[in-house]
Amino acid sequence: MKTILITGGAGFIGSNLCHHLIADHRVICLDNLSCGSLDNISDLMNHSNFTFVRHDVKQSFDIPCDQIYHLAAHASPKFYLNDPIETSMTIGLGTVSALNNARKYKATILLASTSEIYGEPDVHPQPESYYGNVNTVGPRSCYDQSKRWMETLGNDYRRTYGTDVKIVRIFNTYGPRMKMDDGRIISELLVRGIKGEQVFIYGDGHQTRSFCYIDDMIEQLTGIINSECTGPINCGNDQEFSINQIAEKISAWLEEPLKLNFVSPLINDPIRRRPQLNRLHSMGLQAHTDIEEGLKHTLNYFLNSLKQGAL
Ligand code: NAD
Repeated sequence: MKTILITGGAGFIGSNLCHHLIADHRVICLDNLSCGSLDNISDLMNHSNFTFVRHDVKQSFDIPCDQIYHLAAHASPKFYLNDPIETSMTIGLGTVSALNNARKYKATILLASTSEIYGEPDVHPQPESYYGNVNTVGPRSCYDQSKRWMETLGNDYRRTYGTDVKIVRIFNTYGPRMKMDDGRIISELLVRGIKGEQVFIYGDGHQTRSFCYIDDMIEQLTGIINSECTGPINCGNDQEFSINQIAEKISAWLEEPLKLNFVSPLINDPIRRRPQLNRLHSMGLQAHTDIEEGLKHTLNYFLNSLKQGAL
């Protein structure tokens, strides 16, 4: 049984990891609840192997552990466009805190980087060897650039101190325990669709994304932290859909079709995004969940949450 620290453990991916790992490990969830929720982990609070630590990762911490999943960040554009400095500081200083803790306890640390480090890619699909096309001074730079720095710092801790650092580049992930109102496209389409509200689409809806269901992402992250692979390694699902295609699927399951309102594209929002997953596949890791199956699970999750009075 390992002791596993998950920073950002009350958020979407973090809380799903907590639930997955608790069966076999001691899990410490560290979060300042700035955009995550205790609701995501309330059923674990009395579990003898679970500890919740309310803490801001910008401040150093000292927590003995064997592995760290470092996920704490402001990951939704709605938040980071609103408070870019806090976004950069959390990713930058938080990564320093997490790496120092890993170094001290000789823990393996997985750093959650992102497809956003490729910026508006002029190579498609994006292999890990592609350096990206990123604006350093745009509204999204606080997130994209800080994650790039996270990768640099992680690699330098490995080279300088021998810290066991794994770098994963996560592509769009969705599923139960996503926040309903943080502006990500899948939750917007599903939640506003259920409520019969307008959904704003930035651009003409032909922009593409590759969406990975949360269970597949958990399998990939846990597979990588327990492997020899150091990364960077793309994680996700390489099926590519336009936003309009996703909207069409969801519309068919709702009482009324989605009300899409097409508005100006966001600055530096990529037109196409799809991971090249050769490295991931060579490790025997692969997404299995069909998009329709994953979306239906997520729709049911939101329907239940709304019934129980969330939001
Ligand atoms: P999330 O917003 O649901 O969770 C992030 C968690 O970090 C929240 O619980 C939040 O309260 C916590 N947090 C933020 N600032 C903190 C601070 N200063 N101190 C302590 N905790 C803090 O996001 P998510 O979707 O679960 O993403 C997890 C990680 O994966 C992030 O690092 C994100 O950048 C990365 N990622 C996610 C996606 C995706 O599609 N979900 C894609 C690429 C990368």
